[in-house]
Amino acid sequence: MMLLRSNIASMQGYVPGYQPEDISSWIKLNTNENPYPPSPKVREAILAEMGDDGASLRTYPSASSQRLREAASELYGFDPSWIIMANGSDELLNNLIRACASEGDEVGYVHPSYSYYATLSEIQGAKVRTFGLTEDFRIAGFPDRYQGRVFFLTTPNAPLGFSFPLSYVEEIARSCQGLLVIDEAYADFADTNALELVRKYENVVVTRTFSKSYALAGMRLGLAIARPEIVAALDKIRDHYNLDRLAQASCIASLGDQEYFRQSCARIRETREWFSAGLRSIGFSLIPSQTNFVFASPPDRNGRRVYDALYSRKILVRHFSDPILAHGLRISIGTRQEMELTLAALAEIA
Ligand code: PMP
Repeated sequence: MMLLRSNIASMQGYVPGYQPEDISSWIKLNTNENPYPPSPKVREAILAEMGDDGASLRTYPSASSQRLREAASELYGFDPSWIIMANGSDELLNNLIRACASEGDEVGYVHPSYSYYATLSEIQGAKVRTFGLTEDFRIAGFPDRYQGRVFFLTTPNAPLGFSFPLSYVEEIARSCQGLLVIDEAYADFADTNALELVRKYENVVVTRTFSKSYALAGMRLGLAIARPEIVAALDKIRDHYNLDRLAQASCIASLGDQEYFRQSCARIRETREWFSAGLRSIGFSLIPSQTNFVFASPPDRNGRRVYDALYSRKILVRHFSDPILAHGLRISIGTRQEMELTLAALAEIA
């Protein structure tokens, strides 16, 4: 008896970065988490939400997350009707496909970029079209009028770490006849972002995550900024209580502590620049990064060998077996001390 839809039965599913059981004995640089804790205000807000006996958890959270939209509205300068909050930006990517692409419709993205787009497209039964990158980091062969229902543009790019210039993103927005989803998961570590394009083009959505720059990967929080019609559609599709009470409290507290946020991002950027220079000095080649990770290749361009050697020293980074990425490693930026140890290990290995 065939119980499953055929595309679900045959699909592989997304495989997240490896999570060791005992994280404390590893230097964990494989999933672009923030090495610093979230703002101390987050812990206070969670405790306050729980109260003495946790009784608040008895009742459902706000279904609209309206206070979060208002806090984000103040920060980004968009009306709350242009903002939606989600259980991680993954939820938004999922619901944007569901809202815009029917079975058999085309969904496009750049390869390499975030491989979850492929999984989501497969679940939806959409037809996938991928575009490679040119030597100078433009999209190879992108049509003047792209007819796909959804195009995902990851900028800064993951796993390579570069940003597309804003003028180029704007060209892509004009070319796209369907929705352009600008996935800005790493934009808080970059020099530019594309938020202004949301105001200018009705087909543009920007997604952000709290998992990296706000150090809240464990809370699952993301947001999207888009025209109210798109936000309203996403509101219809999402789980009605998509954010739990503790996530909502964390979100408001972290958005409210911009001073801590700025310092945390600045520290990571500083460490990134120090680590990048160190890698170059031991013969690695790397792409200048606008994110909280670097993509770097050892002199022998054997990423797997270096991955294994780091692994045996309990340093966990990310290696992709895809032939266009196998020569390098994606290394998240940890604390200065973690990166000093990693650089010293790499100098021995390479
Ligand atoms: N987009 C990109 C490019 C990412 O790297 C990630 C994190 N792996 C996400 C989206 C999803 O982030 P979140 O934790 O908010 O679901």
